[in-house]
Amino acid sequence: MKSLEKIISLFRRFPGVGPKQAERFAMHVLKSDLSEIEELAQVLKEVKGAVKQCRRCYNFSEEDLCFICSSAQRDQTSICVVEQPQDVNAIEKAKIFDGVYHVLHGAVSPLKGRSFSSIKIKELVERIEISPTGVSEIIIATNPDSDGETTAIYLKQILQKHVPRITRIAYGVPLGGDIDYMDEVTLGYAMRGRTKV
Ligand SMILES: [Zn+2]
Repeated sequence: MKSLEKIISLFRRFPGVGPKQAERFAMHVLKSDLSEIEELAQVLKEVKGAVKQCRRCYNFSEEDLCFICSSAQRDQTSICVVEQPQDVNAIEKAKIFDGVYHVLHGAVSPLKGRSFSSIKIKELVERIEISPTGVSEIIIATNPDSDGETTAIYLKQILQKHVPRITRIAYGVPLGGDIDYMDEVTLGYAMRGRTKV
């Protein structure tokens, strides 16, 4: 059935969705009432229209400045650098960090042809330069895989003349893993055991 294959191939574009799961999702769509599917499509459209990137940290936000960047409770001089918005959520759930974030939206990857200009590194340097409070620490929380490591080394090189203390989260975690798949306890150890790079 051509239409079914079309839905399956759409779901296959989602991260972590294999052929079996995509087929299950497609079957669910076919079995659902039209009103349910219309609601889903409507919500997806509305959310996509309402959510943008915070102009300071590039995390997803409905406001110009996200709730973390605009909070007086957060230490604006300590910036944790992550690859993806879901990494912010993971660290927030662990409740171990009271600073702010910077989302790179990717990692440097020579193999995949992704250079440092394709992620938000230039924006981070500008942010540090214009910061009214100054930045006392950068915590590099890129993924513990080869792209994340390459990015961390590069960040250290370009940021060391701007920031007195640059740290990298410790490995309490399996190599090759993703920050957003880590449990809160492991992530807590990793944050607390961060080391100067
Ligand atoms: Zn923000």
